[in-house]
Amino acid sequence: MTPGVVPGVVGASGRYAGPVLHIPGAWQRAARGAGLLAPDGMLAPTIFAEITAAAVRHDAVNLGQGFPDEDGPAEVLDAAIRAIRTGMNQYPPGRGMPVLREAVADHQRRFYGIDLDPEREILITAGATEALTATLLALLDGPDDEVVVFEPYYDSYAAAIALAGARLVPVPLRWPALEPDLADLQAAVSDRTRVILVNDPHNPTGTVFSAEVRGEILRLAELHDALIVTDEVYEHLIMEGTHTPIATLPGAAERTLTISSGGKTFRTTGWKVGWVSGPADLIDAVLAVKQYLTYVNGAPFQPAIAVGLGLPDVYFEDLAATQRERRDLLGSGLIAAGFDVSTPAGSYFTVADVRPALESGEDAADFCRALPERAGVAAIPLTAFVSDDHRAEYASLVRFAACKRTDVIAEAARRLAASAG
Ligand code: PMP
Ligand code: GLN
Repeated sequence: MTPGVVPGVVGASGRYAGPVLHIPGAWQRAARGAGLLAPDGMLAPTIFAEITAAAVRHDAVNLGQGFPDEDGPAEVLDAAIRAIRTGMNQYPPGRGMPVLREAVADHQRRFYGIDLDPEREILITAGATEALTATLLALLDGPDDEVVVFEPYYDSYAAAIALAGARLVPVPLRWPALEPDLADLQAAVSDRTRVILVNDPHNPTGTVFSAEVRGEILRLAELHDALIVTDEVYEHLIMEGTHTPIATLPGAAERTLTISSGGKTFRTTGWKVGWVSGPADLIDAVLAVKQYLTYVNGAPFQPAIAVGLGLPDVYFEDLAATQRERRDLLGSGLIAAGFDVSTPAGSYFTVADVRPALESGEDAADFCRALPERAGVAAIPLTAFVSDDHRAEYASLVRFAACKRTDVIAEAARRLAASAG
């Protein structure tokens, strides 16, 4: 038992609601890594869960957690229903259903010219989250291994790196451009770097990395013999330019694992169908871990996502065009509410500096906790995506998600303007 920690506290719900540090285990590393374990031993919910609950409580427009409020394409939904009705309800093969592995291979060839062997070079996972966690657990081995990550970073990265006992080395994306500086990148990568983890388009900033940054990531990975792991879940949510996977760069494929999922592209975030692709030996290493996390998941959803990946180009073009309109609507609403905005080139998200609206002593996290009640809008503070040492640099920045219907975004903008007075 940890001294000073009193188990058995009962909260308003009647459930245990006290410190949990008396329970030893690797969970402590994961929770601490993601910033969810307070010094007094209390375990906080993820910021997404906390803010979504506050949004529901106050009937706020939820521009916090990044999930769409519309269903995905009918062809995809119907394919899942058909799959359930025709008995695809038992374990799929460990590497995923052949029809989906072939669809991922076709998609990578069609959009990026990447050639993959569906038998050996593609693994289907329980969303991108499992692909990321299995990959990091598979490749990292203790405190001598470093992972270079662009900060602010998606919360699951820090949790998985901490679970593996490795070290996260951040490269800052600084306001207002929110793009990496090459000198910072060079300073972060060394012979201790096992993985450079690249999220492009980037959550929470919406940054799309430039060709120069991609080239430098590869150059440094080669120089220091590091692997590259990419998280491309927003690959089809590009509002400026085009998406270029690092794996397409000459020489990159042999050291790169590319991760994506169907959640964002087909508005099916609850289905949790993802994939990782790359060299067969690296995929085998990831499989060795993945098969003991979930083994498999989502049998009827796998063929449905395969249908989605095969939809005509116009589906993907419309998805990006709709997101561009919503981004613009949200951006002008945030500006009208008095905030400075960093216009994103990709993803669901727009970051705003809410300094003019902060009450005295308040930071973005306090602001976001109060916002559902104060303004009837929910959003996520960037401090939730940074290490404790760097909170000050992101203390007035807030992420708003534009993956909602146009009328919903317009209503959020109206409420923010009204609350700004
Ligand atoms: N990576 C990033 C950057 C994300 O924003 C998300 C969630 N939206 C994920 C991974 C997780 O994807 P999935 O739901 O497929 O697990
Ligand atoms: N990826 C989603 C976001 O960034 C949240 C997913 C989650 O709740 N973990 O909003």
